[in-house]
Amino acid sequence: MEEMKDLVLKLNMYADKYYNLDAPIVSDIEYDMMYDRLVVLEQITGIVLDNSPTKKVGGKASVKFESYEHKSRLYSLAKSQSNTDLEAWWKRITTLLSSDKILCSCEYKYDGLTVNLTYNNGRLLRATTRGDGIKGENVTTQAKTIRTIPHTIAYTGEIEVQGECIMRLSELENYNNTHDIPLKNARNAAAGALRNLDAKVTAERNLDFMAYSVGYSADMHFDGQKEIVEFLKSNGFTAGDYVQFADNMTDIIDKIKGIGTARPTLDYLIDGAVIKVNSINMRDELGSTEKAPRWAIAFKYEADEISTILKDVVWQVARTGKINPLAILESVELAGATISRATLNNMDDIARKDIKLGSRVFIRRSNDVIPEILGVAEHNEQSTDIKAPEFCPSCGARVRREGSFLYCDNISNCGAVNIGKITHFASRDAMDIEGLSDRTITELYNGGYIRSIADIYRLDSTMLLSVDGFKDKKTDKILKAIHASKNVGLSKFIFALGIGNIGKKSATVLAEKYISIDRLMDCNAEELVALSDFGEIMAKSVYDYITNDINIKLIADLLEEGVNVADFEVSSGVLSGLTICLTGSIPIPRGKAKELVVANGGKVSDTVSKMVNVVVVGEDAGSKLAKATKLGLEIWSYEDLISKL
Ligand code: NAD
Repeated sequence: MEEMKDLVLKLNMYADKYYNLDAPIVSDIEYDMMYDRLVVLEQITGIVLDNSPTKKVGGKASVKFESYEHKSRLYSLAKSQSNTDLEAWWKRITTLLSSDKILCSCEYKYDGLTVNLTYNNGRLLRATTRGDGIKGENVTTQAKTIRTIPHTIAYTGEIEVQGECIMRLSELENYNNTHDIPLKNARNAAAGALRNLDAKVTAERNLDFMAYSVGYSADMHFDGQKEIVEFLKSNGFTAGDYVQFADNMTDIIDKIKGIGTARPTLDYLIDGAVIKVNSINMRDELGSTEKAPRWAIAFKYEADEISTILKDVVWQVARTGKINPLAILESVELAGATISRATLNNMDDIARKDIKLGSRVFIRRSNDVIPEILGVAEHNEQSTDIKAPEFCPSCGARVRREGSFLYCDNISNCGAVNIGKITHFASRDAMDIEGLSDRTITELYNGGYIRSIADIYRLDSTMLLSVDGFKDKKTDKILKAIHASKNVGLSKFIFALGIGNIGKKSATVLAEKYISIDRLMDCNAEELVALSDFGEIMAKSVYDYITNDINIKLIADLLEEGVNVADFEVSSGVLSGLTICLTGSIPIPRGKAKELVVANGGKVSDTVSKMVNVVVVGEDAGSKLAKATKLGLEIWSYEDLISKL
């Protein structure tokens, strides 16, 4: 009972911040876990406290807006997180309907703010938020600024259209690039903008409205969701492109998986999929509980946002001399991984987001990249300002500030910079010296055995055996790998040098143009600017590099140590003349597959466009496959590619 009271108190406080203030202080997953615990306790005890959130929908209409009673109630949705939950729901509805011939729609579950639009005589009369499901807030003036909410529609009867008001991720990015105080998350940004008394704020955020249902209508009768979606589309709403249909659990699970794959490629947030019984008659038969319809269920995908405490900030020196802040977090589990570090970008970003040590912060994980700190959930009495270092944490030299970034001013003698350069040179995509890891290089550097990249080729077994854990076999293996790396192609060699702003792709462009290392060293600045995809900054980087005495000596040293840089050869082969894009997961590393394509005369493109001839599709291919099909491009499987070779 004590735990239940505590949960109800906390959940109501969190819901108030989320629904009424549009400024949550915990992440959805933390809220959901507490909510689920309360549901379990209510089931065990058979007691539901009066103010329990399990009995009510959303927030309450704020007094700052005029309130409006919806003609048709708005509900929350029952939630599932596994196939077992879905199957239990399917079993429940098939039993209640005494049939298992049930067609369902599978839709995106937009993560924004519910909006209910009332039209009569073809004109938009009112826009309201969901509120507590019975009464919402009148936000008509604000909603009228949203370009995807039609002011007039063809249908002239009285009708209520339900949908979600969202902010596109590209709009969020635009906003954050042009405003001093960034918005943390697209959901709260949309909700905060629509529930703002100043309609100019709403207009400025370029929101969108995604319609998904008709709640009330005086004289329209729909057979099912299919007809509702058609009606919405024909009346000018954005609806339906994402709605698919399935009539059995296997298909439904498949569709949910498909939506999950598309999720990271979308320009808006979806936190799940919604499965709805299509037939309106069946819906009427199933009815609703106090909180949610029985005929629909939301499937929630793994969360990608959570909150945790920022314990410390450490400053890391990159091989370019740039000093980057790295956040050390109180460890949390998120999307199957333990997160204890996150990026912080730079001092300006820290100030803009008002991030302080000891505060609770929101973090987001996207794909496999290191998570990002989105903003502050809450400060506390222990919160303190993050201070930029005055001296390089590696070599102690004075730190220089350039724009938003910090740099070590002692680039040629800084240990971290040198270790970074050598590590990059030996890495897999560069000279590919297996076994020469970051750790080994650090030990060799600190032991005084290597000071520059060329020293790699001066290593001998005595030096390597001095590294902790190195025995004859390991030493032998590394020396062989160092020897093997001496024969290298021009583009890999250019990439390995670690020239600022020159990645793998631009290294290949340089190799294609100059064919040999000697010709590259003789190039002039004007030619570089004219190279395809080369901007002035990249051209300057290359020119500065090849005219710097230290670098000229390094390249001469490497050649003297026996590094043999093979001239670039335009490969001719079975893929000559073809531009190929690879997508989805294939059995070999993506980088290796690209090398195969190039070695056989093909060109690689990272994006799908009309310039591409073939798209090689692996498992779980998402939007690129869809785009390729739309453009009518040739599609190959990985096996097709291999058989061509
Ligand atoms: P919900 O948001 O999970 O589901 C119901 C809503 O889904 C509807 O109101 C509707 O607007 C929306 N929706 C989107 N696409 C739809 C579609 N295609 N068809 C139908 N509806 C669609 O439920 P809820 O009860 O409003 O909110 C509960 C959720 O809000 C929780 O799961 C929690 O994650 C979050 N929450 C978070 C906090 C916090 O502090 N972080 C606090 C309270 C609630």
